[in-house]
Amino acid sequence: MADLNAGLDQTPVERLKGVGPRISERLQRLGILTLQDLLFHLPLRYQDRTRLRSLAELVVNEEVLVEGEVVDAQIAHGRRRSLKIRIDDGRGALLLRFFYFSRAQVEAMRPGRRLRCFGEVRQGPQMLEMVHPELQVLEGVAELAMGLAVDWTTDATTGRETGSEVAPEDNAVAGSATSPETSPDTEAGAVADAASQQRLTPIYPATEGLQQASLRALTDQALEWLRRDPDALQDWIPASLTAPLKLPALVDALFLLHRPPADAGAELTDALLERSHPAFLRLAFDEMLAHQLALRRLRRARSAQRAPVLSGDGRLRERLRARLPFALTGAQQRVIAEIGADMEQSRPMMRLLLGDVGSGKTVVAALAALQVIEAGHQVALMAPTELLSEQHLQSLQLWLTPLDIELAWLSGRHAGSERAAILERIAAGQARVVVGTHALFQAEVRFAELGLVIIDEQHRFGVHQRLSLREKGEREGRIPHQLIMTATPIPRSLAMSVYGDLDLSEIDELPPGRQPITTVALPETRREQVIERVQASCRDGRQAYWVCTLVEESDALQAQAAEDAAADLRERLPGLRIGLVHGRIKAQERAPVMAAFKAGELDLLVATTVIEVGVDVPNASLMIIENPERLGLAQLHQLRGRVGRGAIESACVLMYHPPLTHAARERIDILRREASGFRIAEADLRMRGAGEVLGTRQAGAIQFRLADPMRDSTLINAARQAADRLLAHWPEHVEPLIRRWLGRRDDYGQV
Ligand code: ADP
Ligand code: MG
Repeated sequence: MADLNAGLDQTPVERLKGVGPRISERLQRLGILTLQDLLFHLPLRYQDRTRLRSLAELVVNEEVLVEGEVVDAQIAHGRRRSLKIRIDDGRGALLLRFFYFSRAQVEAMRPGRRLRCFGEVRQGPQMLEMVHPELQVLEGVAELAMGLAVDWTTDATTGRETGSEVAPEDNAVAGSATSPETSPDTEAGAVADAASQQRLTPIYPATEGLQQASLRALTDQALEWLRRDPDALQDWIPASLTAPLKLPALVDALFLLHRPPADAGAELTDALLERSHPAFLRLAFDEMLAHQLALRRLRRARSAQRAPVLSGDGRLRERLRARLPFALTGAQQRVIAEIGADMEQSRPMMRLLLGDVGSGKTVVAALAALQVIEAGHQVALMAPTELLSEQHLQSLQLWLTPLDIELAWLSGRHAGSERAAILERIAAGQARVVVGTHALFQAEVRFAELGLVIIDEQHRFGVHQRLSLREKGEREGRIPHQLIMTATPIPRSLAMSVYGDLDLSEIDELPPGRQPITTVALPETRREQVIERVQASCRDGRQAYWVCTLVEESDALQAQAAEDAAADLRERLPGLRIGLVHGRIKAQERAPVMAAFKAGELDLLVATTVIEVGVDVPNASLMIIENPERLGLAQLHQLRGRVGRGAIESACVLMYHPPLTHAARERIDILRREASGFRIAEADLRMRGAGEVLGTRQAGAIQFRLADPMRDSTLINAARQAADRLLAHWPEHVEPLIRRWLGRRDDYGQV
């Protein structure tokens, strides 16, 4: 172990030149304490200054190096004074826009001057633009180029703006003129120069006061250290595991990613830009492997825990099955068997039930609950919102009350003695099934013998809660089984890499007889026609939803939009019975409205996105979604899933507000084309990336640094297999590998 201690994971960054207390503190903010941390602080992306792009082939949002001749330069006095320079390369044109500049610079931009610029292409009001590009005058007076450049140059060592030419009043806008990441922050002199370079420029995740140039200089030192002593960085993954995957050696991959070679060539350059280069895959593989190992560790810790063995005699389950108005699908039967077998074990079940909207997860939950009740234990069912918990209560009541099973609903609406009575029924074990929100996990809620916790809509809870739930219901060293149900359609590969500590059951089949939902998109200008359609449908005895959305996550504004829509529709459709629900209406007033809609006593339900999940009214066959462009794909799919739940043909009208952005149009197109939640989720992932789709940023779930479980999905299986082998043959490598990638993050550590 002695030589391990001399490794880079034990070498503090303070050993590098230029790292004093201040820089050290900033590095720490990036999670960098050792040379190993620094080497695994990998570029987020690269800037390509190796190739000159023609102005005819610019793509919005791309950072490119271009050249052109000044056609015309003028100062525009709009909302904010700006210098606009139009350049042309004979094939296309581009507008350069500066918000701070000096007179000398304006004068330097005489027509005919040749400029080279590097910057991000943006869509301007008239044409493509670059805002504050890095600039070099190719023909003209050299100092003028420097003069223009120095405006946005930052001193590499202090991180302070040096812009000596910046007029005082312009200082305020200097920061907002360019996005922080693209702002040429460091390397005084060099950055301003848009000269072409031989190699791709790595861009590192940075922090205030520690920008690209410093990070590059520090990484240079660390790489030099590694070059002198390659053994200081252990590759914890034996070559026998990486070689069959044709992945390069760790040290080689690190060198290549930090400092792409100068003679890269177009193919390698593209591979790096697109993150498909083997060096990139090597590190993505290592990261996924480290995550898998961390998840295994969680699993192992769990298997050491004990849970009640819940076999049951099957009698209650038999009675429910006999009463169901439908036959279970093959997929439902399969997952019920998987869950059932788990709960007969003495180690706690941790199972994720994946199933698209309308796939019939509730009845699966009911049958699982019955097994637990047969075995003499209680069940807690937790939903993310009050409304949803109410819905679950109703579905379960329908099925369980005839079997003489007592349910309890713990809601915010219960207070005082009523609440006390409910808590007492739970504590005494009288209430066999308890439905509620996360309030169920308050300390005052005590169960007599909790055997199973069912959590619906997992994505709303997040991993931290999942971990903390484990403790709830612990009794005599035994913790309850857990079933997590999600309608967020996560592709299996993603689920495995993100929830790798859970077992998976998947309902991959919808109940038979479902009519496909026809989805149409109409502009707001066709509102009249949409209202007529609602009327016609309701006249035929069907029911409809009218969903109001707002871009703000403000309850109050959403509520107001729904109030307005309801008032308007009541006026225009006097013959219809119209109900209204939104987040500002109290649960006790909302419940009768929902019940009336479910019972067919209301024709039209005007609602906010509170109805997104769980509402189940098979006779509702038409849904109007106002301003669908404001919602994400997953949310739209969830909403749409409220119709098409019966045997009636259903439709969803997306009533948008033109003009649509490109992304909004794409989302709406996908929704019109695709019915399957899984394919929609895949499209969503491609458009937005895993973190956003899972809502993990807020929820604190697993974030990958490099790997992208969607894009690198082929590596996931390999990483899982490698995890098995590493645990079996090189167990002493497991901890250092986890530490290398997950470092001081505690998401995994605490079990
Ligand atoms: P979700 O998976 O979205 O929670 P639900 O459990 O609400 O779906 O089920 C949707 C609808 O399908 C409900 O009305 C339910 O009673 C019905 N259902 C469930 N399983 C079947 C089945 N095997 N055959 C027919 N209808 C079913
Ligand atoms: Mg449901």
